[in-house]
Amino acid sequence: MNFSFCPLASGSSGNAYLVRGDEGLILIDAGISCKKLCEYLEALGCGIKDIDATCITHEHTDHIKSLAAICKKHGRMSLLLSKGTDEYLENIAGVESRILMDAENCLQKVKDLQLQCFSLSHDAAEPIGFSVIKEGRKISFVTDTGIITNHIFDSIKDSDTLVIEANYEEGILNMSTRYPYSVIRRIGGSFGHLSNKDAAKTILEVIRYRKTQGVLKPIKIYLAHISRNHNTQVQAYMTVKNYLFEYDIHEEKDFFLNPLDREFNLQEAIMIAI
Ligand SMILES: [Zn+2]
Ligand SMILES: [Zn+2]
Repeated sequence: MNFSFCPLASGSSGNAYLVRGDEGLILIDAGISCKKLCEYLEALGCGIKDIDATCITHEHTDHIKSLAAICKKHGRMSLLLSKGTDEYLENIAGVESRILMDAENCLQKVKDLQLQCFSLSHDAAEPIGFSVIKEGRKISFVTDTGIITNHIFDSIKDSDTLVIEANYEEGILNMSTRYPYSVIRRIGGSFGHLSNKDAAKTILEVIRYRKTQGVLKPIKIYLAHISRNHNTQVQAYMTVKNYLFEYDIHEEKDFFLNPLDREFNLQEAIMIAI
């Protein structure tokens, strides 16, 4: 079975992920330029026209930068998004079908891939996160949310691979003089982003849940949307790893942990097994 993904970009300068099954190819967010996206897809052995569906989490530029351009280039793109995001984006040329997802309509099939959405807590019209499931395996993408609600946790707790936001380190954000205080409060607020510690707490609960279900295999964790100003890849990794260590949860035994790079590395263009 082929079920794999590739982070194409992660962070405030752009977000995009590719998920591939045996038949289906899904793009989650289109927050990088069309030129870069085409280049990255080519490195992975596919092109824009091979994409079966594009899922949009919300309307912020770092998630939709090239959406109009790729839909135009594709010509028959299928878009999956919430009603609120759709209203905000209005008419995009080249879209063949738009599937509005919400709590009642949260499951969709794209060829051999099953899509599931859940609501996020973020300062956007109607932000949603996505999970992709194939033959009992599941990957979830949880970024751009200020808090992990019970609804989010229930949607992601049975994931085999978890891409979770670790946007800022609390101490660095609180000391920041880079932005006005209102912006700092927005980032750290319940409609902003997750901190390293928020990510760590969520990962701990997911691992505990897995143990109650008798799942012994380590979960694959990818730390995403890491801030350029209030965090570093090493800081995010260390905060999460150290927090879990306190609870006797260990790397390699219980989890694999990777902080994602902001930009795609053309030299390491590979799909990662889920
Ligand atoms: Zn974002
Ligand atoms: Zn956002």
